[in-house]
Amino acid sequence: MNEETKNAILEKIREYDRIILARHVRPDGDAVGSSHGLAEILRLSFPDKEILVSDEDISDALEFTQTEETDPEILDYSNALAIVLDTANLERLANKRITEAKELIKIDHHIDRNPYGDISWVEDERSSVCEMIADFLYTFRDVLQCNLRAATLLYMGIITDSGNFKYSATNGDTLRLAGYLLDMGVDIQTLNSELELRPYEFYKFQACIFDKMKLTENGVAYLYVDKEMQERFHLTRSQASDSVDFMSGIRGTLVWIAFIDNPDGSIRVRLRSRFMPINNLAERYDGGGHANASGATVNSLREMQALVKDADALIKEYKENNGGWI
Ligand code: AMP
Repeated sequence: MNEETKNAILEKIREYDRIILARHVRPDGDAVGSSHGLAEILRLSFPDKEILVSDEDISDALEFTQTEETDPEILDYSNALAIVLDTANLERLANKRITEAKELIKIDHHIDRNPYGDISWVEDERSSVCEMIADFLYTFRDVLQCNLRAATLLYMGIITDSGNFKYSATNGDTLRLAGYLLDMGVDIQTLNSELELRPYEFYKFQACIFDKMKLTENGVAYLYVDKEMQERFHLTRSQASDSVDFMSGIRGTLVWIAFIDNPDGSIRVRLRSRFMPINNLAERYDGGGHANASGATVNSLREMQALVKDADALIKEYKENNGGWI
């Protein structure tokens, strides 16, 4: 699929001596895995080229990847090729200066509402950008080199963005490409332990969350991790945000939402759903995202309640008009 685009990308990579990779703010496993996985592959395959990853805002949870990033302010963008990964629109870039590069390539798996770049390779049905990079590697396996570190980074992005192969974007290609990476020797026990193990106190926080979680009449589960709770349990921002996943296993709950106090007084909203899409709702509250995983922002408790009410109305309508949900 997209053979011409992939060929054009490889040609551009060959053309440039300096290549800078970038991704979205608050990087997740897919953003870190795809930028550093591809950087590693390019360094191995083209040792004479300068390959850099910009941005320095990696989360505590991903520090185990020991990735090295360069301060965007000291980079020389002239005559550089930029490759932007996992970033639907330029507003979500962590390094806004990347657009100063001579040419820019977009590689992404979000719905392409805001096309950009001199070359754009977007496949919104893919589980992850890491799956796309694994596909790129496999397509050009006679030219490109890979090592265990790159394979592990890419595998990490596939499992984190596909929910360990559970989300609906998972298909045969996802598993085949993950298998291709696994065959390079990925240590899944260590990787999964790094990704999943939490400190003891985290489970105390989880108990508190379950106690405070609420359920609307039609089945929206939601919770609010306010500043007080974040301080009481000494939570990092990503630990507080992870709480959305606690609510994923409730039968009949097709939408679940976490509200997390931001330091600036606004409230981050993380929306998740199954069977029914949630991105249109997120777009009404200054956000957006995927059909079943979106983000938004609200600025008051009143706005929070309004969003919950809207979500409840959406579930009601969905359940009345559709069968097959669980
Ligand atoms: P999150 O809950 O932050 O993991 O976000 C889930 C998905 O929603 C991400 O993959 C983003 O694509 C998207 N997203 C999150 N926040 C926003 C936002 N403010 N605007 C647009 N898309 C967002």
